[in-house]
Amino acid sequence: LLLLNAYKADHYSSSAELKTPDAIATEDHSGSRATPEPTITFFPTFTPIPTQTTFVLPDPELNGPTTIGWSVAGRRIEVYRFGTGAAQRLIVGGIHGGGEWNTTSLANSLIEYIKSHPEVIPKSVSLYILPVLNPDGAARSEGDSGRTNEHGVDLNRNWDTNWQADWPRAGCWNQLPTTGGSKAMSEPETIALAAFIKTHHFDAIISYHSAGLGIFAGGTPPTKESISLARAISAVTPYSYPPINTGCVYTGAFVDWAANQGIAALDVELSDHTDTDFNINLKVLKVFLAWK
Ligand SMILES: [Zn+2]
Repeated sequence: LLLLNAYKADHYSSSAELKTPDAIATEDHSGSRATPEPTITFFPTFTPIPTQTTFVLPDPELNGPTTIGWSVAGRRIEVYRFGTGAAQRLIVGGIHGGGEWNTTSLANSLIEYIKSHPEVIPKSVSLYILPVLNPDGAARSEGDSGRTNEHGVDLNRNWDTNWQADWPRAGCWNQLPTTGGSKAMSEPETIALAAFIKTHHFDAIISYHSAGLGIFAGGTPPTKESISLARAISAVTPYSYPPINTGCVYTGAFVDWAANQGIAALDVELSDHTDTDFNINLKVLKVFLAWK
């Protein structure tokens, strides 16, 4: 009841105050009672931007959404959880915000599908879905200028693996100026997701992107687990593994960081910048949940 009240108070409040780390821990419905790492950054001077005027309490068995942090501009970063099994798996959409908005559409479609087909989640699995890691970019634009966070940082270049503030641009996305941040893990969105991952026990992660290059296995070099998962997913989809090599050097990438933590981690690219490839990704979901 205490948890529920804290949850309701949070989501019904129209002028919600930023919460303390203890409150964040209370909101974590994973049952782990884990305390977030002290590296979580709070911005008490920011006013959270209300993103919803009404809120329907979720099915308690679904335990979502849970706020795991805030963006630079104070938007919530939310995670949905489905299932209660021991194997924890994570899907991340919208790391490139509005530049790849269809990945967030896909994540939201998967959430709706799972709510109406809960039997898709095996008893042995807990699935977490984070629809949009870069909500500020998503709010800014459905297009290239929506790619970075509010600091102009590419959130897929900010992680503490082979990090560089700048990188050779040949073969890479280079439509607008971006940076990898002032240092590795400099951005609140990155810090929030890293803390969330470190307080769980994920064995596999998919980070959705668009478009068209295939599947990237995480790790420097790609880890055995990541390659195994990439092959399993490529086998049931038109998404190629190995991916198309454009010559781009990927620095500070999320899935490389995750794979180097021992998690099988993939970038999966949708076919274009508009379609969710829903039926393809329903197959991806089933392989992802069954993968061992
Ligand atoms: Zn991307």
